[in-house]
Amino acid sequence: MSRILPPPDRFDLDVGVLVVGAGAAGMVAALRLAEAGAETLVLERDPRPAGSTAMSSGFIPAAGTAAQARAGVADSAVAFAADIRRKNGGHGDARLADLAARTIGPTLDWLAARHGLEWELLTDFLYPGHSAHRMHAVPERNGAGLLARLGAAVAAEGVPVATGAHVTALYARGRQVLGARVTRPDGRIEAIGCGALVLACSGYGGDRDLVARHIPAMATAPYFGHPGNRGDALLWGQALGAAVADLSGCQGHGSVAHPHGVLITWALMSEGGIQVNAEGRRFADESRGYSEQALDVLAQPGGIAWCVFDERLLELARAFPDFRTAESAGAVLKGANAVSLARAAGLPAGALAETLGACMAHAQGRGRDRLGRDFTIGPALAPPFYAVRVTGALFHSQGGLRIDDRGRVLAADGGRLPNLFAAGGAAQGVSGPDPAGYLSGNGLLSAMAFGALAGQGAAAALR
Ligand SMILES: Cc1cc2nc3c(=O)[nH]c(=O)nc-3n(C[C@H](O)[C@H](O)[C@H](O)COP(=O)(O)OP(=O)(O)OC[C@H]3O[C@@H](n4cnc5c(N)ncnc54)[C@H](O)[C@@H]3O)c2cc1C
Repeated sequence: MSRILPPPDRFDLDVGVLVVGAGAAGMVAALRLAEAGAETLVLERDPRPAGSTAMSSGFIPAAGTAAQARAGVADSAVAFAADIRRKNGGHGDARLADLAARTIGPTLDWLAARHGLEWELLTDFLYPGHSAHRMHAVPERNGAGLLARLGAAVAAEGVPVATGAHVTALYARGRQVLGARVTRPDGRIEAIGCGALVLACSGYGGDRDLVARHIPAMATAPYFGHPGNRGDALLWGQALGAAVADLSGCQGHGSVAHPHGVLITWALMSEGGIQVNAEGRRFADESRGYSEQALDVLAQPGGIAWCVFDERLLELARAFPDFRTAESAGAVLKGANAVSLARAAGLPAGALAETLGACMAHAQGRGRDRLGRDFTIGPALAPPFYAVRVTGALFHSQGGLRIDDRGRVLAADGGRLPNLFAAGGAAQGVSGPDPAGYLSGNGLLSAMAFGALAGQGAAAALR
């Protein structure tokens, strides 16, 4: 069945703005719409909102916030945008990077002041590629807590969120979107008319065919994001003539505990840990970032690597709820020295001892790492050692519909789609076309910053 339908004779219901998807992007858009007084309905396919947002670590990078001021951190949107551009090697959309960097700080402050969200600034360590402490999290320090708090704020504003409401097509005449066709779990169809529509139903990581077509490097990678993100926004937008960009961009991750399926914080690596393969050898410079490392891990025998770290890093990692979950599931192995760790993990003892010995020597200024990592910037690893067996995974796609500064979807012919807006995984992100372009936090950055813009833009379009 076609994804874009002519309008029915009569809609079952008419609302001002429809928001498709109740993740971070949809919830933030709904809050902006409520503030603007726009009648809004959020449509969510799942029985309970979750999305990739609830699966995420919930860390949002933002510059110039009240939380940073309280912590005495000097930062600016200009410095943040420069970090984003540096990580994507200048291959991302510089306008979007500036837009996201200058929008996110005020968005987090507004969520705190107006909707009571509490932000903690993470100052335990500097995320790779960020020149300042700018990761913000709710007190639960995870995505489930973030989404629960956003959902509570949406409920407090009286914005209805219809769950079990799978949008299966859009109604449109020409470029004007007129409504959404909703399929209910019992097969009932509802036609809901609207004055404007916000696509907040994320990317295409959950659709194998779209991943194979657009992100071939990740075609066989396990997908670790929300399975309901099947590329609907991309396909609807394309059918309506939208411009798309950076479709090969994505967030990968080189450190998902296997077979436990729990995210192991990359802080272990950026603060001095290493990854070895089944031969006990390092294979890439871990300090570059977790997204590009996903491909390197997947290229190892069996697509498997081991994160190796010490007691100091174990304590650091225990601050992360996901790591504690992995630890209680038995994913963390211990050895008094390299040989006993190798025995516990089933790795070749001689090779692991040699690898660890070389890294410890580099940290003390002896010899240079053949993979180019600078080990002198932190303390040397010291026994006892720990290891977690991990694999690489695709977390979410970063390409999508091109948007203007108000979140409105741009047309491939240079015009605009008059009443269609997009945010988060549905929209082009700020990482560019390569997995290596993903700077930590780019996902929730574009969900929340562009969600706020799309909400504001859709409310203005109604007027
Ligand atoms: C394990 C993991 C950890 C991560 N950690 C971080 C982090 O710490 N910081 C960060 O910045 N990013 C992180 N990310 C990325 C981040 O989670 C995403 O970029 C972000 O959540 C996207 O938000 P969204 O609102 O666009 O999409 P989502 O949160 O996925 O929400 C989309 C919603 O749309 C719904 N939907 C889809 N199709 C339809 C349809 N046709 N009809 C109705 N509803 C539909 C889905 O069910 C879903 O609820 C992480 C991702 C993963 C997988």
